[in-house]
This record gives sequence, structure tokens and C-alpha cells, in this order.
Amino acid sequence: MSPETILTIILVIISADFIFEQLLDYINLKSGKYELPEEVAAFYEKEKYTKSISYQRVQTRFSFITSAVSFIASFLLLAFGGFGYIDELLRPYFDHEILLALVYFGALYFVSDLLTIPFQLYNTFVIEERYGFNKTTAGTFIADKLKGYMLAVLIGGLLLGLLLYLILNIGQDFWIYFWIAIAVFTLFANMFFTTLILPLFNKLTPLEEGELKTAIEDYSKRINFPLDNIFVIDGSKRSNKANAFFSGIGKKKKIVLYDTLIKNHSTEELVAILAHEVGHFKKKHIVLGFVISIVQTGVMLFIMSRMILNENLSLALGAEQMGVHLNLIAFGLLFTPISKVIGVFGNIISRRNEYEADEYANKTYNGQALSSALKKLSVDNLSNLYPHPAYVFVHYSHPPLLKRLDAIARL
Ligand SMILES: [Zn+2]
Repeated sequence: MSPETILTIILVIISADFIFEQLLDYINLKSGKYELPEEVAAFYEKEKYTKSISYQRVQTRFSFITSAVSFIASFLLLAFGGFGYIDELLRPYFDHEILLALVYFGALYFVSDLLTIPFQLYNTFVIEERYGFNKTTAGTFIADKLKGYMLAVLIGGLLLGLLLYLILNIGQDFWIYFWIAIAVFTLFANMFFTTLILPLFNKLTPLEEGELKTAIEDYSKRINFPLDNIFVIDGSKRSNKANAFFSGIGKKKKIVLYDTLIKNHSTEELVAILAHEVGHFKKKHIVLGFVISIVQTGVMLFIMSRMILNENLSLALGAEQMGVHLNLIAFGLLFTPISKVIGVFGNIISRRNEYEADEYANKTYNGQALSSALKKLSVDNLSNLYPHPAYVFVHYSHPPLLKRLDAIARL
């Protein structure tokens, strides 16, 4: 394929993706119900409901602006050979191919992040603030940024360096070795996320003795599932939005509850949320998710290996010679449609798993308490109650609230 054809395909892909996403956003916004529906009135105050509709609208508009800016920037950069131009600027200073690639990606990452900072600031300190979610201070925002850069340089640099080293030294067969490395890394990251990464950003404290802890211990004994690593995280440092999750595998697994979740829910509701999380474990969703992600990575790396040494990819981006880093960018863009399809399949499986976990919580604990917790979470987070089915199909990893309540009620 000639460089011109490759560039045309890339431009068509990013344009189609942009239009597709904007259409989805649009029909999703249109599917909202503006009058408070009767089925919702029991747990939603009218004022809060109106606020949630307005929140959806503001979020959609904001996401349209950010995507449009990023689409136009990418389109122009590609159409005028900007990626190749940056390569020519940097190349004279670095005669080591891996170093050149790391600096290239570093520069690209840093510049694009700087350009998105105004949008992040607006989102956090204007939109989230207006709807009463924001708790982030300027200090936290800056500290988060710096820590994020540090992690990107450390982890991103390490993985990228390894990938480039393998490609340049082994050639097409690099993908098998890098696949193994990624699998080990994912496992490692999963095991040590709550001990190494999370404490950089949040404070984790063991759940103190009391009614909640006793209730959790009682439940844990009844289902014969050890729940002794329960931590409370200071999510309220950044936002009023609440969450809970399991992390780690085997004996190292930890349960993390947001302080915002504890504050707004009854003991029964909290145990029901935990029971749902235990359901994910018992139904092997965690292991399944891990296996699926490893297989996906393998498929992606294999396809990448067929294209990564093709000089025309670099030329398509406006370069005068082949550069593995340029080929990686071109591959990433060409892979967009496939990764989209993979994402949709992932969401289908994830939504099915959510129903199963709800079912488990209902069977081993209390479906009503779970329903009530889900309603509260949805109201407090101003979630969209009437998303368009097409939007849900593509983007939702969890079924919409009313579908979940329905399913729990039918158990
Ligand atoms: Zn879940």
C-alpha cells in the first residue's frame, strides 16, 4: 500500500470515529426524559432530577468541544505531515533509535497534556464545582499532575523502551516476548496497585471497628469468604462521587471503600455493595477479565507485528525515513476500528457480569438493600437514567440503573 493510501485510510478512520461518537452523544442526549417519570419519582426529588438532566447536557456539550478540538488538531497534524516534521526536528540530536523514540513520545505526550490542561481545569473547577461534586484543591490538582508525569515517565518509559528494544533487535517476532512481558506486568500491577500506586494519590486506612466492620465480618463468615483486608480511601479529597472496588488477586486482595460511600449509605446497603463485589470474585469475573485482556493484547501485538516494520507507515505520516515510533502511531490509528469493536464486546461481557454479581448479592445477602444502594449512588452521582440503547451498547460497562433494578426485582 502506498503512503498516500495509508494516510487516506487513517484520515477516513479518525473522521468516521469522530462523527460516530458525536452521533451517539447526540441521540443519547435526545433520549433523556425531561419530566420526572413516575417510576423514578419514588427515589428522585424533582429538583435533583432536573439537575441531573442539566448535568448530562453540560457534560455532553463539553465533551463535544474537547473531542472537536482534539479531532481537528489530529486531522491537521496528519494531513500536513506534522508527525514526520517533529521527527525531523528531533532526529539530528539523537543518534540512538530508542532514545529518539522515547524523547519523541515524551514530547508528544507532554505537549498534548499541556494543551488539555485548560479543559481539565474547566471540567474540574467549573462544571464539577457547579454541580457540587468538586473537592479538588489547586494544590491537589498540581500534585496529581506531577505524580502522573512521574508515573508516565517511569512505567510508560520502561514499557515503551522494552517494546522498541524488542522490535529493533528481534524484528517481527518481538510480539511474543512483549506479550509475555505485558502479561507479567498486568499481573504485577494488579497485585500491587493498592500498595504501591494508590497510596501516591490517596490515603488508605483500615476500616475501624464498629457496626459496619462487624456486619461485614458476619457476612464474610456466612459465605465463607475472607474479607479481612478492608480499607477506606479518602475519595472526598477530590470529589463527592462515591465508589467501591476490589483490588489484587489471591491472598493479597483488598476491598476499598470510598469514605463518600460510607458517609451516604446504611450498613445494610454497604454490605450489599460488598456482596455484589464478592459476586464478581465468586463468579470468576476477575480471572475472566484478566484472561480476556491478555488475549486481546496478544491479538493486537500480532497484528502490530505484521505492520511495524513497513516503511510506508512512517512515510504516510510525512516522515522522510522509517521510524519505529512513527509506525507505532500509524498503527495505533489504523487499529482504532478493531479496538472499538473489542471494547464493545468487553462491555457486553461486563454488563452480563454485573447482572450476575447483583444476583449473587441478592442470593447471599439482600436484593432490596442493593437496590436501595444503587438508587442512592445513581442519584448522588447524577447518573443518566434514560441513556439511549445504542449508547449503552457501545459505551456502558454497567447496565443502566432501571434495567438493574428491574432484574433484581425479578429475582
Ligand atoms: Zn460490579
